[in-house]
Amino acid sequence: MRALLLEQQGEQVLAQVKNIDSNLLPVGDVTVEVNWSSLNYKDALAITGKGKIIRHFPMVPGIDFAGQVYSSQDQRFKKGQSVVLTGWGVGENHWGGLAEQARVSGEWLVPLPAGLDERKAMILGTAGFTAMLCVMALEEGGVKPADGDILVTGASGGVGSTAVALLAALGYNVTAISGRDSNTDYLKSLGAKEVLPRSDYIETPRPLEKQLWAGAIDTVGDKLLARVLAQMNYNATVAACGLAGGYQLPTTVMPFILRNVRLQGIDSVHTPFQRRQAAWERLANILPESFYQQATQEILLEEVPAAAAALMNNNVTGRTLVKIR
Ligand code: NDP
Repeated sequence: MRALLLEQQGEQVLAQVKNIDSNLLPVGDVTVEVNWSSLNYKDALAITGKGKIIRHFPMVPGIDFAGQVYSSQDQRFKKGQSVVLTGWGVGENHWGGLAEQARVSGEWLVPLPAGLDERKAMILGTAGFTAMLCVMALEEGGVKPADGDILVTGASGGVGSTAVALLAALGYNVTAISGRDSNTDYLKSLGAKEVLPRSDYIETPRPLEKQLWAGAIDTVGDKLLARVLAQMNYNATVAACGLAGGYQLPTTVMPFILRNVRLQGIDSVHTPFQRRQAAWERLANILPESFYQQATQEILLEEVPAAAAALMNNNVTGRTLVKIR
């Protein structure tokens, strides 16, 4: 099988497309012929070696994939069935989706819901799935469209773009924060009512600022998240899933104890099956057809290392779909 293989050379990570014997695939009860994968922030960290994502080499990266079951010892899956996988450490400590085949546990797979084909599932990928989990967290926090505006940070990225489109389709008023002026039209076309410059959010905030937002989806962390928290309305919910700006959170308890603000962490890697399935079904139903054209660029396996470097340099907008076959 053809695969992107990561090998360690001293402190460097080498990423090359190679032909590998598929007998070397790891243990698992379902083998999948991968048709599509995608490039996520975590993939870019792993492939460029900028993040310590991978501990054991050689590794096939790719934290998500969609494809057809080739063989299965798990009764729930039949040969030829379309499935999607995100998370569970695949592409980190278990060979991943940037290869023609993957062998995984049936526990990790989700059958594709009606309304999504494999290609669309990977336009969404881990980023889209995570955006859906963030929106569900706002809903569970009681945030309704009538309550006020919702802020999305890191809006041009995969999670941010999908979150903007999902919220807009659900009737929320969305304000996006972006570091890229040039993406204002793109973000408005996805449904953002307003786009604010990231530079407005880099100063250390006061513990409490003017109340502006009924909810927020944050992919950035650090001072930007601290400022977002200081601006939340009474009883608002913030779903925090990312660290594109850093892993620190220089905040105070004030938003929580004086404004009843809820900070909900989001992890997409170990989401239990029922919630996974519910999130994929909702993604299939909510997003308009136009989203899949607006938010995607398609590349081949050979182009992944360059695309990973571009993503790390904040030069990628929306989602990067990888055509495997
Ligand atoms: P992308 O690289 O596609 O998007 C990140 C966006 O963040 C960029 O497009 C940019 O948006 C903004 N950004 C980039 N660098 C900085 C910076 N230094 N400071 C502030 N903003 C910055 O990544 P994804 O959308 O795939 O992922 C976003 C985050 O969410 C990542 O940290 C990722 O690890 C995390 N994540 C977490 C998951 C979980 O399970 N918790 C699952 C998936 C992702 P703009 O130019 O518009 O400002």
